[in-house]
This record gives sequence, structure tokens and C-alpha cells, in this order.
Amino acid sequence: MTNTSETAAAVDALEIHRHAIVVDMHADTAQRLVDENVNLEVRLPDGHLDVVRAREGGLDAQFFSIWVEPELFGGGGPRAIKRADVQIAAVRALAEKHPETWELATTAADIRHAAANGKIAALMGLEGGYAIDESIGNVDRYYQLGVRYMSPAWSVSLSWAGSSGDEAGKSRGLNDFGRQVVREMNRLGMMVDVSHVSDPTFWDIVNTSTKPVIATHSGCRAITNVRRNLTDEMIVALAKTGGVVNVIFYPEHIEPGWSDKKKKVDGEIESLVRQASEAEKGDAAHKKMARDRVRAAEYLKRLPPVSSARIVDHIDHIVKLAGIDHVGIGSDFDGVQAVPADLKSVADLPNLTKELLRRGYSESDIDKILGGNMLRVMEEVIH
Ligand SMILES: [Zn+2]
Repeated sequence: MTNTSETAAAVDALEIHRHAIVVDMHADTAQRLVDENVNLEVRLPDGHLDVVRAREGGLDAQFFSIWVEPELFGGGGPRAIKRADVQIAAVRALAEKHPETWELATTAADIRHAAANGKIAALMGLEGGYAIDESIGNVDRYYQLGVRYMSPAWSVSLSWAGSSGDEAGKSRGLNDFGRQVVREMNRLGMMVDVSHVSDPTFWDIVNTSTKPVIATHSGCRAITNVRRNLTDEMIVALAKTGGVVNVIFYPEHIEPGWSDKKKKVDGEIESLVRQASEAEKGDAAHKKMARDRVRAAEYLKRLPPVSSARIVDHIDHIVKLAGIDHVGIGSDFDGVQAVPADLKSVADLPNLTKELLRRGYSESDIDKILGGNMLRVMEEVIH
């Protein structure tokens, strides 16, 4: 390829990217809003997401994860509820304080409206069902507050849903209450997210839900063998519900072997991480931030760089198994301590489009992957 045609290809990629409605299904920035009081309207020196970089990256809609870390805030009860509520309030405040930038959104139509007006749509998903505190009424309460998806479990199993992240989850699926939660989500119009759940919970969700099921930030286990990822059978079953697997950008879940290398590094840096936590005098959330800062710096130094082309390997795999209508993107920005070398923040999203074009995806395929497929699911599930 000559330089001129390379430049032409880059321009095409950018134009296709700008035309597409880009929907990121998962970022953890709401915790930064609460714990660090960051101003997203300016270019931040750290983290992965702010308005300036979102505009550079052509982002149209962001689902903010409302995440309750059970070890810090409880696996239920008033502290878990409060932790979810303050994050929801922080996301809602974005649109109230900065209507020139953000529109609070709950539907596909809202996202299209925001995009047409040059705004970024702010949406919310509950990561783990800890804050519903084993009460069906709270599912409706979070729906009323604007939450439009929920994953039953994050890395810690609940009495009613198993997680991929602990021992209990290996044999635990949904119990009767868990199935009732899924049916209530179907009734209300809240998408059910299988990211982080255990294998038995995945199958119980797919067999219970009467609406399309999604994975907001997951990878393929056939490429990267971690329990957090979906097997080929799961991907096919999820697609049969009409749902979408949104591919995560986190190296641990996309790069073969990276998880084992990371475990080794975690052992090597244990005392560094502990010292940083002890030196931080703030609350539990600030101590976690101090630990994560050390991890991020050390992973960058000690672990091999990963390319965004690896994300497209997972996209390719899902397309081969289930077709072009069942794949999307869920970055996990601001929730991870490592990112691909050429996808360091939301500003670099066009690099994904470049790689998709290079692999022969058409403009309409790319529209579907970047957000069109999720808009279709939202139209079907949310009423
Ligand atoms: Zn997550």
C-alpha cells in the first residue's frame, strides 16, 4: 500500500467511525465521579474517559456501571444500596450540570436523539445485584432511577446467583428468587447482563429470560481461557435469545496467557501494593484507588503490551459463531488497571474501526458492531 492510499484508508475509517452511533456498554467512571469528584468536562491526565477524549473518539453513548464492591460496601444492606445510589446521583448530575454535553438516556430513541444533537447519552447499568438487597421491589426502584441493565453477580456470589469469580459460583446458578429477578427485569424492560456470572447462572438466565440477553463486557473463552469469558456454546445460546456479546478491552480477558503472567506479577508486587494502601490515609475506596494506581504502573512495566487487534480477534470469533448481529463493544474503561497499547482511552476508539475495515468488514457491519446491534436489543427489551 502506498502512503497516499494508507492516508485515504485512514480518512475513510474516521468518516465511517463518525457516522456510526458508537455505544460503549460498560465503563466504571461513575466511581471516579463519586470518589475523586473528577470533572469530566476537561481532558483528564489519568483514567480512560472524559468528554474531550470521548468527542475525539466519536463516542455517542456511555453506559456507566453502577458498581458496588461487596467487600468494601457489603453484599446487600443499607451500605450497598447507598453506594449504588450515590453513583446514580452522580451520573444523573452530569446531565443536569452539563446539558450542553450530556443527555440522560434510557432508550435507543434517547441515544439517537442525543447523537443527532451532538450530545453524549449517559446511561446506567447495575454491576452485580448486591444493591437490590434481596428485594424484588428494589429492581423496580432502580428501574425508576434510570438503570437499564443489571448483571446478577459481580466477582462475589450472592445467595441467589453464582459468580465466575469465586468457589461458590462453580456450582451455584439462580435460585427461585434469582429467576424471579430475571422475570421482573423482563417485565420492566431492564436488560439482563451475563458478564461476571458463573456458568450455571448463565444457563439459568438464558433458560429463564423471555427477552434478549446481553454480555456487557466479556470475551471468548475459546481464545482466552478464563472463567469470566463465554464458551462457544454460551455465545451461540446468547445469540439465539437475540442478544449481543459486547467485547471487553481488558488484556486479561482478551490476550491468551496474560492472566497467568498477571498472577505472577501480582505476587511480585504484593508488598508494593500493601505499602501504597497503608500510606493512603483516606477511606476504603481511596485505599483501593492507591492499590490500583500501583498495579497499573507495574503492569505497564512488567507485562507484555496487547494490541487492539486482539479485540477484533474476539469480534471475528463471535461473528463466525453467531453472525454479525450479535456483537458489540464494552470497554471496561476506568475499571481496569491495563488497556491495549493502541487503545489507551476512549479517544483511541477509531483504531478499532481501522482494524475492522482492514479485516474486510463493511460500513454497515461496522455500524452494527459499534452500537447498532445494541440499539436493536434496547428497542426490543426496553419499552
Ligand atoms: Zn466488570
